[in-house]
Amino acid sequence: MDRIAKQHLEMEDFFAGFTLRNLSEPKPPADPVILSPHAPSFQTLVETIAQCTLCELSSTRNHTVPGEGSLKADIMFVGEAPGADEDAQGKPFIGRAGQLLDKIIGACGLSRDQVFIANILKCRPPGNRDPKINEITKCMPYLVRQIEIIQPKVIIALGAHAARTLLNSNAAIGRLRGQFHNCHLCPNLDPIKLMPTYHPAYLLRNYTRDTRGRVWEDMKKVLAELGLPLPK
Ligand code: SF4
Repeated sequence: MDRIAKQHLEMEDFFAGFTLRNLSEPKPPADPVILSPHAPSFQTLVETIAQCTLCELSSTRNHTVPGEGSLKADIMFVGEAPGADEDAQGKPFIGRAGQLLDKIIGACGLSRDQVFIANILKCRPPGNRDPKINEITKCMPYLVRQIEIIQPKVIIALGAHAARTLLNSNAAIGRLRGQFHNCHLCPNLDPIKLMPTYHPAYLLRNYTRDTRGRVWEDMKKVLAELGLPLPK
């Protein structure tokens, strides 16, 4: 059996067996709260991002990837930047790493439309290189505004780049993960609980019971923080 197929079977095994929460209940309509003076609504924000040329990534992208999910989500996942699949479709986390993220969300008893998924950068760095400081600086106001609108109870930072950026830290992800930190990114909001964990792409590259177990430990802490039961 080839390695990727084996990984998918193991993913099924590791994150399977959990039931989704009842999704039949109608959700109330999104009700963005305007906190910053003159700040745009979510849809205006998406349209602004689509037109954005503030950094050089605008010249190489195919699509902007503003993020998607519930505007009333308690959990907001934040990764580093779109990859090739995301750039092609304008949606966050839809490649192999995205499939694993879906498994992790499902293991928590949730579905993609009950959380919000975004990245620090809204455009793909060519060749998936690391984001540059000036790109992060230019793009960060969009994420800040998204957090202001959604007001998640917990942010889950996926990977070292997201965790370090959101926490203004240089610490290794191995030291940051596993415990809550306070995220002070939004001056208009109280600090938000932030749980760093491994990026799903890292998990795929280092696919061991130990790394999967650590991510699951992180997720269990988030569920406990939100008062959500552990799926059986
Ligand atoms: S990465 Fe962000 S700042 Fe740069 S062009 Fe895209 S949306 Fe604008």
